[in-house]
Amino acid sequence: MKESLGTTGLILNEPLLWEKGKKGRCGFSIPRRDVESCPLDEDLTCEGPDFPDLSEVDVVRHYTRLSQWNFGVDSGMYPLGSCTMKYSPKTNEKQAGLSGFSGAHPLLPANLSQGALKIMFEFEQYLAEITGMDATTLQPAAGAHGELTGMLLIYAFHKSKGVRRSKIIIPDTAHGTNPASVTLCGYRPVSVRSNEQGILSAEAIADVMDDDTAGIMVTNPNTLGLFEENIQKIAEIVHSKDGLVYCDGANMNAVMGIVQMGKIGVDIIHLNLHKTFSTPHGGGGPGSGPVCVKRHLESFLPVPRVIQENGRFILAENYPESIDKVSAFHGNFGVMIKAYSYIRSMGPKNLKKASQLAVLNANYIKERLKRTLHLAFDRPCMHECVFSDKYQVAHKVMTLDMAKRLMDYGFHPPTIYFPLVVNGAIMIEPTETESKEDLDQYIEAFKAIVNEARENPDLLHEAPKSCKVKRLDEAAAARKPCLAG
Ligand SMILES: *Cc1c(COP(=O)(O)O)cnc(C)c1O
Repeated sequence: MKESLGTTGLILNEPLLWEKGKKGRCGFSIPRRDVESCPLDEDLTCEGPDFPDLSEVDVVRHYTRLSQWNFGVDSGMYPLGSCTMKYSPKTNEKQAGLSGFSGAHPLLPANLSQGALKIMFEFEQYLAEITGMDATTLQPAAGAHGELTGMLLIYAFHKSKGVRRSKIIIPDTAHGTNPASVTLCGYRPVSVRSNEQGILSAEAIADVMDDDTAGIMVTNPNTLGLFEENIQKIAEIVHSKDGLVYCDGANMNAVMGIVQMGKIGVDIIHLNLHKTFSTPHGGGGPGSGPVCVKRHLESFLPVPRVIQENGRFILAENYPESIDKVSAFHGNFGVMIKAYSYIRSMGPKNLKKASQLAVLNANYIKERLKRTLHLAFDRPCMHECVFSDKYQVAHKVMTLDMAKRLMDYGFHPPTIYFPLVVNGAIMIEPTETESKEDLDQYIEAFKAIVNEARENPDLLHEAPKSCKVKRLDEAAAARKPCLAG
């Protein structure tokens, strides 16, 4: 590797605002009053919070410095497995910022928001086409919210048939939100083990599928970055007992334009616009988790639905079987615009190419690192690959140590200790937007770290050395957070 990406240059320390403030300092100046002063009412003079007194420059510098400690996709590669931290082209932000969109009030009547409704209408159709489904709701505000919506749809479907079922099948490779959503909806998750290839076998599903099981919730590609190759057979088994197939489509970035889930037995799927469709995420920003369904579930979708009538777009409420609203208004509209803009600017060919490159990049890393790190499943992967610390355990070096050391090399660590089915997991998702040079640098850094693990393991135990914040006591940081001075 040429020069290390990491540096400890002019990064300034920053005290808490409470340490910085000085009594009487003020961040604003208002004109001198030209009326007599008058004491406030008794009940308005109660003790306020203990805010520090600060000047404007104190505040500006404080937040600017903190922002410089930040790391994001705009500063470097961010290969967090399961998160799809791909670069979001700035043009999408620009479209979402247009005042007609950003200023649109959700209570505007339909005749004053034809443009916005048209975009929602078309966007629903694009997502349905990409997933091979028939209808879409844009209301859910995140992936997990889409899952809950999907579970409510499954419940409504069975209810309409006069049956009540109590269980949902969930593979052991599921994302943590899956069993949580199932439980929140009142179902009991039934865990099924994946086979030695890291995917579900049809036999394992046949063993547990029964008349009390409402359906299956399967992440595909799964959290090991592997495609559930038996999904079609599994769907047949679930359907034969009148169950439904829910696909967690948060990993759609691997298969856009390649797999239409609706054609391989999926009845319901959610997408993460803030992963696959190029919307910035992390840091609690708004997300969006639209849900697409097959025709037989359309009547249960949340209301209002955007429909077209005599060439006009209207918000239709009259769906007696609907699960009703899952969002205060229509969902996170700004995120829809970003994703719509992304889909329109890419076009079908380039969406497919993005997935192909995401898969290529992950397989490149997998092949180049598989003799350095233990590869959990040595077979072609989708958009992410999962290693473990098995080869380093002899040197008493663990996944956490290697992840921390990566920061000294100027790289954001990958996802670690997830998925749970792999001990000491190291899960790398490079995404399609990284160049070969950047991938090579990442690979070389990992190789150098593995050499250090052999020759000087203490270096890793003390990592990171060159970062602003050194090795944290993570348990104490979580249990006794210091939120004020
Ligand atoms: C990210 C993710 C989710 C949850 O999505 P949120 O928007 O964070 O709620 C669910 N499933 C999988 C596989 C994911 O990667």
